[in-house]
Amino acid sequence: AIALVWLRDDLRLDDNPALRAAIEGGYIPLAIYVHAPEEEGDWAPGNASNAWRHRSLRALDERLRARGSRLRVFRGPTLQTLQSLLVATDAEAVFWNRRYEPAVERRDAAIKRALRGQGVRAESFNGALLFEPWQVETRQGDPYRVFTPYWKTALASWREPALWDAPTAAWPTLPDEDAVPHGVALEALRLVPGRGWDGGFWERFAPGEAGARAALERFVGHGLVGYGLRRDFPARRGTSRLSPHLHFGEVSVARVAAAVRAAEAPADDVERFVAELGWREFAHHLLHHFPGTTDADLNPRFRDFDWAVPQPRILRAWQHGRTGVPIVDAGMRELWRTGWMHNRVRMVAASYLTKHLRMHWRHGARWFWDTLVDADLASNGLGWQWVAGTGADAAPYVRVFNPVTQAARFDPDGSYVARWLPELASLPLPLRHAPWGDPAALARAAPDYPRRPLVEPAEGRRAALRAYAAIAPPR
Ligand code: FAD
Repeated sequence: AIALVWLRDDLRLDDNPALRAAIEGGYIPLAIYVHAPEEEGDWAPGNASNAWRHRSLRALDERLRARGSRLRVFRGPTLQTLQSLLVATDAEAVFWNRRYEPAVERRDAAIKRALRGQGVRAESFNGALLFEPWQVETRQGDPYRVFTPYWKTALASWREPALWDAPTAAWPTLPDEDAVPHGVALEALRLVPGRGWDGGFWERFAPGEAGARAALERFVGHGLVGYGLRRDFPARRGTSRLSPHLHFGEVSVARVAAAVRAAEAPADDVERFVAELGWREFAHHLLHHFPGTTDADLNPRFRDFDWAVPQPRILRAWQHGRTGVPIVDAGMRELWRTGWMHNRVRMVAASYLTKHLRMHWRHGARWFWDTLVDADLASNGLGWQWVAGTGADAAPYVRVFNPVTQAARFDPDGSYVARWLPELASLPLPLRHAPWGDPAALARAAPDYPRRPLVEPAEGRRAALRAYAAIAPPR
């Protein structure tokens, strides 16, 4: 009998629970992908995600073909597509790995009900997380809102995961491939953005399972030792850059955790890295329990906050790296060119938007959503609300990053700024991080760079704190 293996954000063969269930259940697995962005509510995948997905699906198809199979791509609506495939193939089961975005969770639950209602074996699995979002709770049975206790409780229930190695040999395939609908060509989904915008992404990343495995091996071999020290310096390659691979499930997070824990590396580095995976888990925990936080502040006090009325001119300057604050602009240009930004710079750029420019984090989250190759509803929302101070963790609003101080600390030789803003490379330090200090030198070096920042750091900080004081409860 045939089982449909409905692949989504688990674009891998290795350690894929849905595929495993099909093979171990004695079924012939039929790998399918159904394209239905309109079913994802307000948060249909953005352009950078689409560009990545296109390549990842192609890589997956190649892997399947090497095993005598292939990936079949269809257009939604998903339920109807699954139903007609069940009829056309005589399949008896549909297996998939869970996703946790609120709109997708709702849709998937409805699909499961409908399929089971027709007597189909429909089962979902955890292929994306170390802990299910509902599995970790306080002693009172409530969700956590602060990372440290969340992660402590989670780790206490850690079980060494039983990893499943993808079969290297061919598995049972259809007697007649052509008897089953082929679906559409991947190109027909039109996932590739126009004008070659994504060209720079692929100098840095190789979507697909092989690329994910190579990134993991590189990190375990060369990046893990010293990770704790290096991870905050954007000019160095101090982090794993696994985030898009993890988002698309090209490598299982359990595989990543196991590889890192088995590595010969100082315990501090290992613990620190696993805690970063923990933030990803925590993000899913929060999104599951507070689904409204994709758009709304988790902390309701911010309902009365005096956010600036968004001006397109200001927002565009931030998006395209023309705020006049070099560390912010360098980050925004790294994002545009490579589809990724270093975590430290994400924090500084997000802080400048939400505190100094006092724009609601939603505007920044939307831009990141469209331009990050690792755009992830859970992690992006957590990141923005954490920086904005409107979210779950203990980071208070009053902690305003000073972009110049941050740059001096984390880009001490100015090489990150020089890489993404080459026009400022000839300026000496500390001027390179705050070029408005010498307008004449700036004009000579970079005639097109903004003369003054949109908001000067100290002034922006004062205004932000004033706005906050207006909603802060009286002491
Ligand atoms: P590493 O340091 O190598 O960490 C390993 C893995 O841990 C990452 O691949 C990621 O899966 C996870 N991780 C690390 N830090 C975090 C974190 N703070 N929150 C959640 N998971 C984390 N991450 C995304 O994956 N998608 C997003 O859309 C996203 N948006 C963000 C928006 C803002 C404003 C901020 C401040 C952070 C955001 N992050 C997001 C978190 C973080 O910046 C990235 O996960 C990280 O930079 C990815 O690089 P890396 O794989 O080299 O990280």
